[in-house]
Amino acid sequence: MYDIIIIGGGAAGLFCSIFAPKSLNKIILEKNGSLGKKVLLSGGERCNVTNIDISPEDDYFGENIKAMHGLLAKFSNYDMIEWIEKHGISTCIEDRWRVILESGKSKDLLDLLMRESTKNGTEIRTMFEIAKIEKMDDVFLVHETSGNIIQGRNLVIATGGKSFSQVGTDGFGYTIAKQFGIEMTDPYRGLCGMVTQEDLAELSGSTLDLTLSLYDDRKLLYDEHGSFLFTHTGLSGPIVFNAVIALGEHLRKLGIKESQQKAYFGEHITIKLTFGEKSMTKKVKHFFEFDKKTTPMIRGDEGGFSNEVILHLADLKSWNEAKVTGGGVKLGELTNTLESKKIEHLFFIGEVLDLTGKTGGFNLQQAWATGFVCAKGFERN
Ligand SMILES: Cc1cc2nc3c(=O)[nH]c(=O)nc-3n(C[C@H](O)[C@H](O)[C@H](O)COP(=O)(O)OP(=O)(O)OC[C@H]3O[C@@H](n4cnc5c(N)ncnc54)[C@H](O)[C@@H]3O)c2cc1C
Repeated sequence: MYDIIIIGGGAAGLFCSIFAPKSLNKIILEKNGSLGKKVLLSGGERCNVTNIDISPEDDYFGENIKAMHGLLAKFSNYDMIEWIEKHGISTCIEDRWRVILESGKSKDLLDLLMRESTKNGTEIRTMFEIAKIEKMDDVFLVHETSGNIIQGRNLVIATGGKSFSQVGTDGFGYTIAKQFGIEMTDPYRGLCGMVTQEDLAELSGSTLDLTLSLYDDRKLLYDEHGSFLFTHTGLSGPIVFNAVIALGEHLRKLGIKESQQKAYFGEHITIKLTFGEKSMTKKVKHFFEFDKKTTPMIRGDEGGFSNEVILHLADLKSWNEAKVTGGGVKLGELTNTLESKKIEHLFFIGEVLDLTGKTGGFNLQQAWATGFVCAKGFERN
């Protein structure tokens, strides 16, 4: 019998195992052959571990953004940097206040997480395929497809979201939440590119700084100035990724289901790009001035320089390209230590929660903070 079973060995699960009391028997059950695949991928494999400049209202999305204040008060971005550096890994700050490993190797952080987890007495099982989970009396039973059963007094769901499923995240945490009657907001794709109705393939590869404004009819949903990229099918770059989460939140509030999205996009969603004259490339200028197939430009006010383009959203890039899943288990269903208010000893941490960050280290920070807070809650056991 284990004191704590953690399902999922990603950032949140590993962090929880590191800070849970050493005296408690802990096991991580991971379906992949190795842990922390998204930690390795983050920040272009250089590990964008957190962000220096966090303001929950500006940087997170979800029904209960305020919860992030409480989480950061217990484990902040500065706590994370201090923890890493204390263990001999240097960090540096890059554009958009992103904190990156100085070595440029995310494996350095994953090695540290694995080492500290093992040092804290955590048993780790990989290639673990779960058939079902039950709660009988006060014990959770995790059935492996082989017939083997792992028993535990506490169960922590750290299985991530359902985007980027090629590395193991297929929405299992939502299935468990539903099974136990825990309320969720519908998961949606976040941090992915947009597909436009206009054919912009000729501009593919052009990167520039501009302001993107996203509208539902005349209502402004989101705007941000920053790095932007034209792709073969549409738009990419940090400001596009962030706008996709804002759009996901908007559609969720309107109650628009995924099957209805494309039709809704076609009728209502437009994207305004505002170019600065200096940052405009010749290619882009030429394309929007002379290509008759695209929506005509609106005249800007920079002394006759036309600086705005209106595009029409056709779709979002696929779930497998979305770097994060928005929506998930509602924070209101959980206590301050992320335990279900309905099912005692059942916990949810990390991306499975309805608390999603912009691109730039905010999602990993959420995983560290929720893993830490959950772990510290076990000290009262
Ligand atoms: C390409 C890419 C780049 C990213 N870059 C950044 C970045 O630069 N900065 C940033 O902050 N965030 C980034 N993110 C997002 C960030 O990595 C995640 O939000 C974060 O890792 C979530 O941590 P988690 O522990 O909740 O979930 P995950 O890291 O997704 O871990 C969940 C784990 O659970 C396992 N699992 C799932 N189902 C089961 C099951 N049934 N049984 C057993 N195990 C299971 C999975 O295999 C996985 O190991 C990136 C994501 C991607 C995909």
